[in-house]
Amino acid sequence: MVQTLAATQFEATDARRAFPCWDEPDFKAVFATTLVIDPQFTAISNTSVVSESVEHSKKVVRFADTIKMSTYLVVFVVGRMQPTKPVSVGKTPLRIWTVPGKQELTPFGQDIAVASLKFFEDYYGIPYPGDKLDLVAIPDFASGAMENLGAITFRETALLVDQRAGTHAELGRVADVVSHENAHMWFGDLVTMSWWNGLWLNEAFATFMEMLAVDAWKPEWKRWDTFSVARAAALSVDGLWSTRPIEYPVHAPKDADAMFDILTYEKGASVLRMLEQHIGPIVFRDGVRAYLHRHAYGNADTKDLWIDLGTVARQPVTELMNGWIFQPGFPLVTAEIRGQTLQLSQQRFTYLKQASSEEMWHIPIQIRLTIGERTEQRQLLLTEQETAVPLPDGVTTLLVNEGGYGFYRVHHRGALLQQLLDQDPDCLAPIERFNLASDAWATTVAGLMPLAEYLHLTARFKSERDKNVWAVLLDSFSFLNRIIAPDDRASLQILVRNRVTPAVKDLGWEPRSGESDLTRQLRGDLLAALGRKGNDPDVQQQAVERYRLYRKDHSVVDPNIVPALVAILAYIGDEARYEEFSELYRRSATPQEERRYLFSLTMFRSPALLSRTLNRTLNGEIRTQDAPFVVAATMTSVHGRELAWEFVKTNWDQMDRLFPKQGLRRMCGGIVGLATPELEQDVRAFFTSRKIDLGGKTLDQYLEQLRIAVSFREREGRTIPATLANAIQS
Ligand SMILES: [Zn+2]
Repeated sequence: MVQTLAATQFEATDARRAFPCWDEPDFKAVFATTLVIDPQFTAISNTSVVSESVEHSKKVVRFADTIKMSTYLVVFVVGRMQPTKPVSVGKTPLRIWTVPGKQELTPFGQDIAVASLKFFEDYYGIPYPGDKLDLVAIPDFASGAMENLGAITFRETALLVDQRAGTHAELGRVADVVSHENAHMWFGDLVTMSWWNGLWLNEAFATFMEMLAVDAWKPEWKRWDTFSVARAAALSVDGLWSTRPIEYPVHAPKDADAMFDILTYEKGASVLRMLEQHIGPIVFRDGVRAYLHRHAYGNADTKDLWIDLGTVARQPVTELMNGWIFQPGFPLVTAEIRGQTLQLSQQRFTYLKQASSEEMWHIPIQIRLTIGERTEQRQLLLTEQETAVPLPDGVTTLLVNEGGYGFYRVHHRGALLQQLLDQDPDCLAPIERFNLASDAWATTVAGLMPLAEYLHLTARFKSERDKNVWAVLLDSFSFLNRIIAPDDRASLQILVRNRVTPAVKDLGWEPRSGESDLTRQLRGDLLAALGRKGNDPDVQQQAVERYRLYRKDHSVVDPNIVPALVAILAYIGDEARYEEFSELYRRSATPQEERRYLFSLTMFRSPALLSRTLNRTLNGEIRTQDAPFVVAATMTSVHGRELAWEFVKTNWDQMDRLFPKQGLRRMCGGIVGLATPELEQDVRAFFTSRKIDLGGKTLDQYLEQLRIAVSFREREGRTIPATLANAIQS
């Protein structure tokens, strides 16, 4: 039976569509909400219900006055909803709401909600500002979640999960989003940016705090190590000429919407982490407390935060941070030995060489020197273009960006990189190995390191067992897969098998007792890579067999390899498999399972089947919260990209009407997969002739990323077959 549910989403500028108001973040007010609804429904708003009565056969629900807050934080939800029993966190009753029948999926979300709320009360030194906290799972929701004070709304995959069946990544996502939203109750709701140009104050902080809270809750997840992947993703957008400063002018509502991007969230959180590590975690926390106390129930700007942090730290934080917040891009730090000194220099890192640029940063740099058996640290702030660091005698290796928290890339020149790779891998922390691999790949894409050298380097990581380091390598193989000619694909598959097989053989298919969640996730990631990018027949055969067992009894297979099984089976799948997965999508028991089978429909190779998937994004079968992402995923598949691009061009107007605005914007991100010269030309012509504007610099960024991929192909294409053949020998 079809059910109707109403839920608002006001951020950034839509409260004005629901009630007359000064709909800007610094016009804070107290809201007294009354909702008049059909009697069979339940109403949720920011505060607790103070009275409920029936008048003229309608239910009248009155809510307590809110704190003084911005309009974009007001929320109404009306429908058939069920709450969990409230849990008290201090004085706050906390509940999870779902549509009927999904209450079994609430305990995990509730656990992290309780833990993170406690964590933040303690960290901020301020009690939770609302009178209750509801976390509400909405079945069709365009964003991930929305931090309405007292009634946070979520898409279901971000709040509801079956603890026993979820993968590490799926559970991690719930933990992240729930603690992120809870962090906003202070950062964003209690103290709000004055204007949308300062959105990063809300979002970067919530992202930073989300990780502090999850790290405290489950230290074994090593959340700050895993954050490397997000930091690297931010670096890859920030390496574009079309990037923007974290703080950036916002004039029209479309520009405000475009601010919800990786630069605001992940770059913002990265530079906060860098600052926190530079001035020390306790000093940083005390500065944050001072800032929140001073501006509670009001609004603030970036400079206000630096003032409080600078006062507590007794350091010129404003000078340090201005470059990171108000300049676009980030530096490449080049390290080179000249005689007895280490020469460090900075220049802006960009993938495409267009012009020289003048930006300079104050870069906190931590260096580790290994001298025989012992190590020494050096800390400095690189404020000039170049500096020389005197070295003691007998330095055997030297690592710049020790600890890995710097928001910059490092080019260890000459023998420096080789020396780092030649030592025992355990001499480097996982996050440092991640950065070595990630910086090497980025400099390769930028044309500063030959592809042959990078591929040779990947051979060093056969014994690697950290899932984040592997994420860099697997990503680089995917990139190559998108840009090479179809005839070269078989060579790339051999290379992938060569690099991945030893780790898969070692890890096997079954988890070992005492194994970490991260290793379980790694096993799944590697199997998926070997079965698809490596096109490995043995792994494919095993996947078929294990999936058959899994369908009979879910408990016989570790949840972390189920996504790999589904992905591999789709990759080798025929029409019968397509029907099977479509059916499983329709009647899946959890939001995660539903998502898994939905996206498996983009992983088949047959054009006829991929066409069917695309058609279902417009005929109502796939909800609009997911449809744009399904189209994007098909555009990044080398088997579906031509088809998907034709589909986008043909149906643009309908998509523009049907999909949520931010979904449409994300969908267009799929064009970076269209990495052939012909497609690139067609993409540019389409967006120009249709005069499409996605807000801010979004479209320019996608087009530049596409240019980078195609120019890599133009630069390396002819030599790739020989390079791959050589790399397989290494
Ligand atoms: Zn947020």
